[in-house]
Order: sequence, then C-alpha cells, then structure tokens
Amino acid sequence: MELISVIVPCYNEQESLPLFYDEIRRVSAEMQKENDVAFEYIFVNDGSRDDTLKILRDMARGDERVRYVSFSRNFGKEAAMYAGLEHAEGDYVVILDADLQHPPKYIPEMYGYVKSGEYDCAGTRRVSRKGEPKLLSFFARKFYKIINSISQTEIVDGAQDFRFMKRKMVDAILDMPEYNRFSKGIFSWVGFNTKYIEVENTERVAGTTTWNFWKLFKYSLEGIFAFSLAPLAVPAFLGVLFMLIAFVTALVVIIRAIAFDGILTCFAMLIAAIFFVVGVQLFCMGIVAQYISKIYMDAKGRPIYIAAETEKDKK
Ligand code: UDP
Ligand code: MG
Repeated sequence: MELISVIVPCYNEQESLPLFYDEIRRVSAEMQKENDVAFEYIFVNDGSRDDTLKILRDMARGDERVRYVSFSRNFGKEAAMYAGLEHAEGDYVVILDADLQHPPKYIPEMYGYVKSGEYDCAGTRRVSRKGEPKLLSFFARKFYKIINSISQTEIVDGAQDFRFMKRKMVDAILDMPEYNRFSKGIFSWVGFNTKYIEVENTERVAGTTTWNFWKLFKYSLEGIFAFSLAPLAVPAFLGVLFMLIAFVTALVVIIRAIAFDGILTCFAMLIAAIFFVVGVQLFCMGIVAQYISKIYMDAKGRPIYIAAETEKDKK
C-alpha cells in the first residue's frame, strides 16, 4: 500500500479548514475505491491568531490520519511548506492551500500522471489571471519576464504551489536547506519531469488573503536574489561604462585642443577624471561581487547534483 501525504499550510484558516477537511476526505475516499493508497493529512499551523489550532487539535483527536505541526509564531508559507515536507512520511506528497484555491479534486489526476512513471511531479498552472487586479497581472507578467531572462532556473508563469510529488523529488527539495526559500524556483531547480495541468483561477472559499501588492513585490525580489546573480554584475557593468565615458570625454577634449584651438579645457578634463575614478571604484566592486557571488552560492549549501534514477530503482 502506498502512502500519500497531504500538506496544508494554514494561517488564520478557521473558516476554510472545515470545508477543506470535508473535501479532502471526500477525494481520499474516492481515490481509495480504485487504488491501494492510504492518506495522512499534515496541517502546518503557521502562527495563526484565530481558532485554527483548536480546530486542528479536534480534527487530530477524531481522525488518526490527521497530523499537525504548530509554529511558535508566523514564519511564512515557505517555512510552513518546508516543515510539512520534513514531517511527511508518504511515498507521494501533495502540497495545497487550505482555502480550496487548489481544488483537491485534481489530486486523482495528478496521482495518475506520477503513477504512470512518465512524470515525477504534477502541478497546476493557471491559464488565465481572471479575477485578479489588472495592475497586479501586469507586474506579475513583467516579473516572470525579468526573472526568466536573468536566471538559469526556469520559473514557469502561472505555476502554482499545488504540487504532487514523488518521494525522490521531496528528498531533493529537503536537501536544499537555504533559509531564503523561493519555492517556485526550488521546485524547478531540483529538476525532474513535471506535468502541468492547466486550470482556471479559483476564488478562496472563506477568510481573506494575506498577500498584498507590497508583500508580493518583496517576494518577487526574494525570487530574483535567490535564483540570479545578475544584480551582482551591475557595479562591474557601470564601472566599465563610466571608464568609457571618461575615455571618450578626454579623447574629445584632447583632439579638439590639438586640431582646433590649442586650448585644453581643464573643466572637461576634470569631469573625465572624476568619471574615471568612479569607474575604477565600481569596477573593483564588481570584482569583489564576483567573489561574493561564489560565497553566496556556497553558503546556500545546495547539492552538487540530484540523481533521478539509478540501476537500484529499476529492478
Ligand atoms: N499561509 C501560511 N502562512 C502565511 C500566509 C499564508 O501558511 O504567512 C497559507 C494560507 O493559510 C493558505 C496558503 O498559505 O493555505 C496561501 O495563502 P493565501 O490564500 O493567503 O494566498 P493566495 O492564495 O492569495 O496567494
Ligand atoms: Mg489563497
């Protein structure tokens, strides 16, 4: 029998939780009719201020499949997902939101894809941004454009955190102990074959979202800094640019002096000298940045490679 771990990060979800619990039980029972699978539900209470923990305690008392981890304070969804993965014991793990924006009804289909052996992971990708403020959609699109042009890790536009994964992939994610976690990047960095199911945007069943424009903006910067070293190249680039400006300015002044009036304009030469010195400084910062980028990548402690299969897996 195979065990499926369902991971649910919860932050102030007292209204959604009972609805979610009903739905996940319905879907589990349906899957168990056709497959030899068992379930565990791991709820991570991310420092909720409402009755979420009380509800989880009650649920755990009445149902041995329910497990929970309750944080000492709010650590954020990324930390909650990591904790869930760490506690999961299943052969398969699925992560989804408590607000039913990631409808559990897709789990059987996802299981089918992964079970077939063709994919290691199945996720959902929203095809439309219906119901989202226009300005937010605009910035979201720009963000995906920017990050994909400066990062080697592909960040799939519209891909959600709703993922059904094989144990191998879960272990690979747990092998990435970095503190600043950007899951959209991590899911993609670890590799493996992912099947994306295209879905429509679903509204939250109850409660309110904790994300606002500012938080999303900070989160997108998090993604850029965690998965791209491009910003560190900015000083070196500016340094070269400034030195070039200095050379051209000096050249123009000298040529003009020699060819035309014989007057060397000190003011223009001074400007050129300033540009040159600033350029050298920026360029040196760029050199230091190269070393910092190496330290930064080493400090993340990411694995050097991840094996998807060896001869031991196919017996
Ligand atoms: N969540 C969490 N910690 C937080 C914020 C959110 O665990 O600090 C959970 C939340 O309970 C939900 C999921 O992460 O299950 C997605 O959050 P939300 O619905 O607020 O985000 P949105 O769907 O609007 O992106
Ligand atoms: Mg939501």
